[in-house]
Amino acid sequence: MPSWAFGRANHKTAVIARGNAAGPAQLLNLSASLGGTGHTREAVRRPPGEDADSWVASQTLLVFQHVDLLWELLGDGCAPELPMTAGSSAEYLFPRDLALEASDDGGGELLRLPAAEYIPSVLKWASALLSDEALFPTSPETRFPKKSAQLIKTITRRMFRIFAHIFHHHWTRAEELGILAHLNTSFRHVLFFAEEFELLAAKEFEPLKEVIEQIKADEQ
Ligand SMILES: [Zn+2]
Repeated sequence: MPSWAFGRANHKTAVIARGNAAGPAQLLNLSASLGGTGHTREAVRRPPGEDADSWVASQTLLVFQHVDLLWELLGDGCAPELPMTAGSSAEYLFPRDLALEASDDGGGELLRLPAAEYIPSVLKWASALLSDEALFPTSPETRFPKKSAQLIKTITRRMFRIFAHIFHHHWTRAEELGILAHLNTSFRHVLFFAEEFELLAAKEFEPLKEVIEQIKADEQ
């Protein structure tokens, strides 16, 4: 198995494997896999000689694993009636057909789902895709199909939106649980990854503008 998929075989999504409770130890492992908070921008760059598709797939898997674990820890605090918003200015509607390309912005029927339903559904969808050998092959002899690149963008966009919801609505809970550092590290990773590979439209960054400005200021 190539390095990009290392850990995939053992990874059970929190959504599917409820009861197999995630804990701070798992978060620490994931944070360690990012190489420390100070190096994340460098850490997302493709190492020389590394296959480009495999590298981007590995980073996407990492983004997914972080969000999945964060939601395992924070999801219980998401009241059933809370909409899938990021503050008062952004609401994310749920595409009835998650598989539809560009469906997040009205390419198909959109539903107003509570975050507590939206997020597990998106995580389950992403987990199934990332485990699909036909889309993200682990054999070095098999090339990635063309559509994988578009799927990476869609997965990253949806994971980013979950971060936006968490930052706006579950920050206090994350603080209570003592996982703010992990939340920040995970977010820095997805931010730098999305920037490095130009995966997100500019408007996606908008709800987290202040967080992002702070991260960039800290980098100076
Ligand atoms: Zn929520």
